[in-house]
Amino acid sequence: MKVSVIGASGRVGKAAAFCLAEESVVSDMVLLSREKSLDQIQGEALDMKDALAAKDIGVSITPSSNFEDMAGSKIVVITAGVPRTPDMTRMDLAIPNAKIVAQYSKLVAKYAPESIILVITNPVDVMTYVAYKASGFPRNRVIGLGNHLDSLRLKNLFAKQFNIHVSEVHTRIIGEHGEHMVLLLSSTSIGGILFKDFSQYQSLDVDAIIEKVKNAGSYVIDKKGATEYGPAFAVSNIVKTILNDEKRILTLTTYLDGEIYGTNDVCLGVPVKLGKNGVERIIKVNMSDDELKAFKVAAEVVKSSTQELMSKLPEELIN
Ligand code: NAP
Repeated sequence: MKVSVIGASGRVGKAAAFCLAEESVVSDMVLLSREKSLDQIQGEALDMKDALAAKDIGVSITPSSNFEDMAGSKIVVITAGVPRTPDMTRMDLAIPNAKIVAQYSKLVAKYAPESIILVITNPVDVMTYVAYKASGFPRNRVIGLGNHLDSLRLKNLFAKQFNIHVSEVHTRIIGEHGEHMVLLLSSTSIGGILFKDFSQYQSLDVDAIIEKVKNAGSYVIDKKGATEYGPAFAVSNIVKTILNDEKRILTLTTYLDGEIYGTNDVCLGVPVKLGKNGVERIIKVNMSDDELKAFKVAAEVVKSSTQELMSKLPEELIN
């Protein structure tokens, strides 16, 4: 199974690539970057190979700035983009990153036409829309990291709050990966028991929890300059699920065409059944009135930013 990472010289790209190389399900890994970073990714590749030898893992790792080398990839992960600084919102990145994502999505369509594109670049919901349009791929084969990492962050918060093992928490964040994320408390369960049946439910400060999850990325960026392990392991979860055809339900960005309360022509984070064909089903969730209201706001905000962005991009990049 071949996987390519575009943006492998970056902090998220290299961490994700290393994490993936460790998965026994990946046999060939291509690290891609522009020519100017070729030396760096050659060093990364060798460093990774040394580490993997210690674990008796024999994956092939090819550093390259020749994008033809992604031919035959089952999945192409796009992490290339300008990263966010603490003072920037994800939307501040939209125009420069859209140009990068569109240009690379076109190369993926040319050299790996049967692949699945996994977009990490922020603002990820809008970038997934750009990749969908620029690649011309069917929507099941263009996915964004969406709220998967946000949902993992929420899992950690609840596990700490209840002092229980993280694996006991099943929860989701949907909507925008950004300001308008929606915490799905109504379908959160702990140890198989609905959260709302716990006595703590009534006294829960939902707004404070949402703020904590929303600011988690900025907190890490502020402290250490970038998020690395979180996105890397989240990417690894997704790639493994696809390559093993696991049919897990993850909260990822996908193009909506009316499946969730009529929301259409926008890419947003929702629960999807993920397998070897990418998004195999969009799961319709029952939301409380408040959750639905917040989801509709997220959809409106992301849709209008997407439309504004698309109107500013050169035609040839998106068609
Ligand atoms: P980074 O360390 O600065 O790396 C940026 C990467 O993008 C480099 O590999 C660089 O490749 C490439 N790049 C930069 N400018 C480019 C351009 N004009 N054309 C082509 N490639 C360009 O950034 P990072 O921390 O890895 O973050 C990468 C992206 O992931 C950012 O957009 C960030 O916001 C996003 N992210 C998303 C999530 C999520 O949950 N969705 C989480 C973390 C990060 P070259 O070597 O070719 O220059």
